[in-house]
Amino acid sequence: MNVHQYYPVDVVNGEGTRCTLFVAGCEHQCRGCYNQSTWSLDSGSLFDQAMEDKIIADLNDARIKRRGLSLSGGDPLHPANVETILKLVQRVKAECEGKDIWLWTGYTLAELTDAQREVVQLVDVLVDGKFEKDLADPSLPWRGSSNQIVHRLTQS
Ligand code: SF4
Repeated sequence: MNVHQYYPVDVVNGEGTRCTLFVAGCEHQCRGCYNQSTWSLDSGSLFDQAMEDKIIADLNDARIKRRGLSLSGGDPLHPANVETILKLVQRVKAECEGKDIWLWTGYTLAELTDAQREVVQLVDVLVDGKFEKDLADPSLPWRGSSNQIVHRLTQS
C-alpha cells in the first residue's frame, strides 16, 4: 500500500484530536473529486513497518492525547489496500486501548466484500458512498454529499 499524507495531529477529519492517514488508490472516479492525485495505487510513497509503528506510538502518546485514527484517501478499502489496512486496524484495537477508528470509503456499506467487511468490523465510524457532485453540501458534517452516510457502528 502507498500513502499520500500522514498527520500525527489532526482536528478536522473526525471528532476530537486524531492521527489521520490518507492512502493511495481509488477506483471510484467521482466527478468533482478533490483528491484525484490519490487515484493511482502507485502514487505517493510506500507505507512501511516504520510508519505503522509510528501511528501506534502516536496514538499512545500521552503528551498529546488522541481520540483515535482516521483513514481516508484515496480509498482505504480499495481491494489492493485491504490487507494492509486490516493489519493496521487490528493493531490499533489490540495495542491502543480506547482509541476509535473512522474510515472514509467510496463503497457503500451494502456492497462491501467479505474482506472489506473484516476491516469494517473493527471500525467505529464508517462514512460510505461515492462523492456525488450534484448532491454536494459543504455544511454536512464529515461528508461531502448528502448520499453519503455516517454510520456509527459502535457506541464510542
Ligand atoms: S471515493 Fe473519494 S477519493 Fe475516490 S474518487 Fe470519490 S471522492 Fe475521490
